[in-house]
Amino acid sequence: MKMKDESGKQRIEDAVRTILKEVGVDENSETYENTPRRVADMYLELFAGIDGNNEPKLTLFDNNGYRDILTLKRIPFYSVCAHHLLPIFGDISIAYIPGKKILGLSKFPRIIKYFASRPQIQEEFTGQLADFIYERLKATGVLVMVKARHLCLEMRGIKAHNVETVSSAIRGVFEENVSTKEEALKLLMS
Ligand SMILES: [Zn+2]
Repeated sequence: MKMKDESGKQRIEDAVRTILKEVGVDENSETYENTPRRVADMYLELFAGIDGNNEPKLTLFDNNGYRDILTLKRIPFYSVCAHHLLPIFGDISIAYIPGKKILGLSKFPRIIKYFASRPQIQEEFTGQLADFIYERLKATGVLVMVKARHLCLEMRGIKAHNVETVSSAIRGVFEENVSTKEEALKLLMS
């Protein structure tokens, strides 16, 4: 990733200093002395998922005959929106039917963290998670539901406080079989 080299980070710091100056604060005062460096470090952390090398390593286990729906509910996440770079946060519920392989449950929050660590559009984020689980785990079916609050809706613009945006993506058997999808939804909503 470009940001990783020192000169890239320096350019982010310079840009932050320019923003501070142009919005009218005294960027040379003590208060703002370390702000450019802090913001650059923060972007490196928040956007680590842009770098494909940070994709979590997955250890898959043989599935010894589990053919039903597994659900993981309300895994918290934090990201930032691609349009304003303001926080998006909420929780994610996943229902999936494993294929020949099973993934350790602790890996799901890591997968979420990886995709959340880049500027995101909620619908795309939801689809990326569903695709990843469906393709990498060779799952039989996946349903991902993302419930999120967008601070760009709440702090600015229309100031729609507490609005929850819900998106979902389905792959595999959940697309093909309505009763399986309904069962998954019921499990996620309960
Ligand atoms: Zn936004």
